[in-house]
Amino acid sequence: MPSKMLQFTRLAQARPTKRTNAERRRDFDEIYQPFETPRAAEQASRCEQCGIPFCQIHCPVANNIPDWLMLAAAGRLDEAYALSSATNNFPEICGRICPQDRLCEGNCVLEQSHHGAVTIGAMEKHITDTAWAEGWVKPPRPRRERPESVGIIGAGPAGLAAADQLRKQGYQVHVYDRHDRAGGLLIYGIPAFKLDKDIVARRTRLLADGGVTFHLNFAVGRDSSLTELRQRHDAVLIASGVYKARPLTLQGATLTGIVAALDYLIASNRVGLGDSLKAFEDGSLNAAGKRVVVIGGGDTAMDCVRTAIRQGAQSVKCLYRRDRGNMPGSQREVRNAEEEGVEFIWQSAPEALLGDGHVTGLRSVKMHLGVADASGRQAPTPVDGSQFTLPADLVITALGFDPEDVPTLFGAADLAVTRRGTLAVDEATAMTTLPGVFAAGDIVRGASLVVWAIKDGRDAAAAIDHFIRAAADRRAAE
Ligand SMILES: Cc1cc2nc3c(=O)[nH]c(=O)nc-3n(C[C@H](O)[C@H](O)[C@H](O)COP(=O)(O)OP(=O)(O)OC[C@H]3O[C@@H](n4cnc5c(N)ncnc54)[C@H](O)[C@@H]3O)c2cc1C
Ligand code: SF4
Repeated sequence: MPSKMLQFTRLAQARPTKRTNAERRRDFDEIYQPFETPRAAEQASRCEQCGIPFCQIHCPVANNIPDWLMLAAAGRLDEAYALSSATNNFPEICGRICPQDRLCEGNCVLEQSHHGAVTIGAMEKHITDTAWAEGWVKPPRPRRERPESVGIIGAGPAGLAAADQLRKQGYQVHVYDRHDRAGGLLIYGIPAFKLDKDIVARRTRLLADGGVTFHLNFAVGRDSSLTELRQRHDAVLIASGVYKARPLTLQGATLTGIVAALDYLIASNRVGLGDSLKAFEDGSLNAAGKRVVVIGGGDTAMDCVRTAIRQGAQSVKCLYRRDRGNMPGSQREVRNAEEEGVEFIWQSAPEALLGDGHVTGLRSVKMHLGVADASGRQAPTPVDGSQFTLPADLVITALGFDPEDVPTLFGAADLAVTRRGTLAVDEATAMTTLPGVFAAGDIVRGASLVVWAIKDGRDAAAAIDHFIRAAADRRAAE
């Protein structure tokens, strides 16, 4: 029998699995809990049933998933790690926090045929955690040093992936970040229950051990202009992310007790890292004992509701103007939040924040979903007379992020932006309108995902390498 047919016959013979809630919970848990080798081997070997790498096609960094699963199934974890780390600078991070249901696992052929996806993320995490434990993960060690230096603004996943790639090529790499810790949203956005901060910190240490210089508490625009950085380095990469929270423009929006999602999550992450924070201790950014309402339906909203549950909130509700099917956030995160006790109030939007000084509740209205717009999502409109009041002591707004005004902030009026305010780059070279200044990650794409930031950082690093070598060749020819 031809091998393709054999594979499909095996697929057809495999029994479909109808997953119970407990089993789904177990699948979720395995991302965060030890994934022992026999279970890993069992998962890895399931991939042998398939011959079509849709998972790889739908992985932004094009991980060679089928091959590293085969190697893992054969117990050759060192080779599996070598292969997996060739396309992804931080596989153990992606294994933990990629929305696999929308990427690799959602497109796994076994999932498409209702046999349940191979738990690719958990396998990626297992392979790389094993590599760390066995000492296979090494600092970037270039074969030869290059004299040219690159300045990177932003120590998030885009900046760190670029730093790793450029250092491997021998460049003198300097990373500037306005925060006191490197990692960007990996450290201060994503909650610790999804991504342990030590996992991020050991990556930063590895880069520093490999010769990357970090300049922390260094805000470009305050501590130097972009022009100064351009004079200091042969190329500059802007990977500064998007941080301007979309505001709530309703009556009562200035009451105390209404906080922006990222302020709330940064406080929670700082406290988890051992910092003492007045706004947490005085209760302004602490959900303990409170009736919490989170407004929004994206992954940031899910992080807020799940953090509030862990802080011991009295109740946690999530208000979202569309229905479950139209949510921008991962369905897996919604399921997790529900299992943890979050109440979702679908098709509802706030009309006004109530209270005298401090918020006491929200007047909300039910929404009707009309016909789908150009993006395919149904437009919500308020239903007359459907108002209701939700009591609240803490309201967290998670309405999304826009880019800051980077040209003004960096004192670089010639840095062009798109209509959305993201940096305009040449798609082929990742270069901005300023020669030798490149950009990557959310500041180009808009709020996106860690794995896309890693891909963009890698692509920008390759473009910077090409740019610097071409300049060196030109100088040599003169
Ligand atoms: C709450 C939250 C949860 C998320 N959860 C997930 C998830 O589970 N999975 C997932 O894939 N994605 C998630 N994301 C998205 C993901 O974190 C981002 O897409 C990713 O971090 C973008 O990487 P980046 O390197 O472009 O920017 P960032 O991670 O934002 O890093 C930018 C860095 O630039 C620094 N910076 C900014 N301005 C300056 C300046 N002027 N001078 C010096 N430094 C500066 C910042 O301090 C920051 O460290 C989440 C986002 C948020 C907000
Ligand atoms: S990087 Fe993300 S999308 Fe790619 S294989 Fe890993 S978990 Fe899946």
